[in-house]
Amino acid sequence: MINTRLNNILAQIRQAETAYKRMPGSVLLLAVSKTKTSKDIAAAYQAGQRHFGESYCQEALKKQQELGAFDITWHFIGPVQSNKTKALATHFSWVHSVDSLKVAKRLSDQRPSALPPLNICLQVNISGELSKSGIALNELQHLCGQVAELPNIKLRGVMAVPMPERNFELQRLPYKTLYQAVAELHNPGLDTYSFGMSGDLCAAIAEGATIVRIGTALFGEREYA
Ligand SMILES: *Cc1c(COP(=O)(O)O)cnc(C)c1O
Repeated sequence: MINTRLNNILAQIRQAETAYKRMPGSVLLLAVSKTKTSKDIAAAYQAGQRHFGESYCQEALKKQQELGAFDITWHFIGPVQSNKTKALATHFSWVHSVDSLKVAKRLSDQRPSALPPLNICLQVNISGELSKSGIALNELQHLCGQVAELPNIKLRGVMAVPMPERNFELQRLPYKTLYQAVAELHNPGLDTYSFGMSGDLCAAIAEGATIVRIGTALFGEREYA
C-alpha cells in the first residue's frame, strides 16, 4: 500500500522533472508524517523513504525516540514557537518555517556545536492575507542578509504554502513570483525551494521546487483528534 503510493509519487516527480526540463533527481520527496504513527513512518522507511517532515515538535520528538535506530533525516515544517527552538535546533537537520530574525538567532545559538549547521528556509507568505505564517515578499532580501550572518545555521532557501487552487496555471503563479524574487538576490548559497504539497506538486516542480512536501498522497487523509 505505502509502497505503491510512494512509487506513484516518485514516478510523478520524475515525470514532472522531465516535462519541465528539470534535472533528473533534482526534486527531493519529503514525506510529511504529522499525525501519522511511528509504524506508518517505519513502513515508508522500509519502502526506501529517508526524509520525513513534521509540524508539531512534541509529536515529532516522541516519534524520533521510537525510531532512533532508523537513518532518517528530520525536517521541521510547522510554525516555530520560541520555547521550542532548542528542541528543534537539537533534533532536526532542517527547519523550513523560519519567519523571523529572532527565531533564526535562537536556532543558531541553540544548535549543538557537535552538529553541522542547521539547514533553514525562510517561509514566505506568498499569497498574502489568509495565512498567518511567513514573511512578506518585500522583507525577504533584508532577512536573508541578517540570517546569513548567523554562525550555526545555513540559509538554504525559501518555503511557501500558497492558497490552495485547483487550476494548474493559478497554482504556478505564486511559486513563479517567489522563484524570481530569490533569483534576483544573486545568492548562490540559496539552492532550496520548498514548494508543493499533495495538491500542487507538478505546478511546484514546473516552477523550480527542489523539495516537495507530501503528506496526504503518501499516507492518506489525516485524522485530527
Ligand atoms: C501538512 C503539510 C504538508 C503536507 O500537505 P498534504 O496536502 O497532506 O500533502 C506540506 N507542507 C506543510 C507546511 C504542511 O503543514
